[in-house]
Amino acid sequence: MFATIGIANQKGGVGKTTTAVNLSACLARMGRRVLLVDLDAQANATNHVGVDPPQDEMLSSYALLVDKSPNVRAILTAVSPNLQLVPGHIALAEVDIKLFSTINRETRLQRALARLREDFDYIVLDCPPSLGIATINAFCAATHLIICIQTNWFAYEALKRLMSIVEDVMEETNPNLVVYALATLHRPNVNIHRDVLVKIQETFEHFALSSVIRHTATLAEASAARQTIVEYAHGSRGHMDYQNLAEEIINRVERKALKIAQAL
Ligand code: ADP
Ligand code: MG
Repeated sequence: MFATIGIANQKGGVGKTTTAVNLSACLARMGRRVLLVDLDAQANATNHVGVDPPQDEMLSSYALLVDKSPNVRAILTAVSPNLQLVPGHIALAEVDIKLFSTINRETRLQRALARLREDFDYIVLDCPPSLGIATINAFCAATHLIICIQTNWFAYEALKRLMSIVEDVMEETNPNLVVYALATLHRPNVNIHRDVLVKIQETFEHFALSSVIRHTATLAEASAARQTIVEYAHGSRGHMDYQNLAEEIINRVERKALKIAQAL
C-alpha cells in the first residue's frame, strides 16, 4: 500500500470526480492495484466508471461509514483488471444525521479501509461537495489529499475554511497527512486562469502539483459516456493531463516510500 488519496473541495463542479476517476484509471493502467471509493450521494464516480449504484445502501460506501464492522470485500465491484470500486449511494445524503451522536464517527472509514491494506497500492476517495462527516472521514483515512482548485476562481475564504478543518484533523488524528493542490479546468490562454495558477503555486509552494488539468470537452464527454478517459479517448489531451498527474503522484509518493524503506 503506497497511499490513500482523498480528492477534496467543498465546492461542487471543480473536477473532483473527474480527477478521482481518471487518476484511478491511469494508476491502474500503470500496473498499480487501485480502489476507488465513491463517497458522494450523487454517485457520479460510480456512474463515470460505468457501474450502476446498488439498490441496497449496505453494498455501498454508506456501509463503511455506518456499519461498525462492515464486510468490505463483499462491497467491492470490479471495474477493470486493476481497478475496483466501492460504489456511492443516495443514502450518503443522510449520513451526517445518521452518525450525529456516534462515538468515533470520524474514523469509521479509516478502520474499514485498514482491512484492505494488503490488497491495494492506491485507494482514491472521491469526496462530496461539503465538509460533512463523509469528507471528514476521508481526511482521517487519507495519507494524502489533493485539493482541486479551478483556475478561474481562487476562493480564498473557502480554501481557508477547508485548510482549517484539515489542520484540525492533523492535530487530532492524522498528523502525517500530506496536502497537495491541483489546478483543474485550466485554460492556459486566459489571463485570469494564469493569474490563479501562479497564486496556487505561491500559496502551496512545493505542494502545488506541477501537473495541471486543462479544460477539455473530451473529459466531460467521457463522463457522459460512462467511460474513463483512458478508454474513451486514449492519447487525448485529457488523458495526457491525467497520465502526467498519475506519474507525478507515483514519483512523489513511491520515491518517498522507497527512501524511507532504504533508511530503515
Ligand atoms: P466535482 O466532482 O468537483 O463536482 P466534476 O468532476 O463532476 O466536479 O466536474 C464537474 C463538471 O465539469 C462535469 O460535467 C465534468 O465532466 C466537467 N469537467 C471536469 N473536469 C473538466 C475538464 N478538465 N475539462 C472540461 N470539463 C471538465
Ligand atoms: Mg463529484
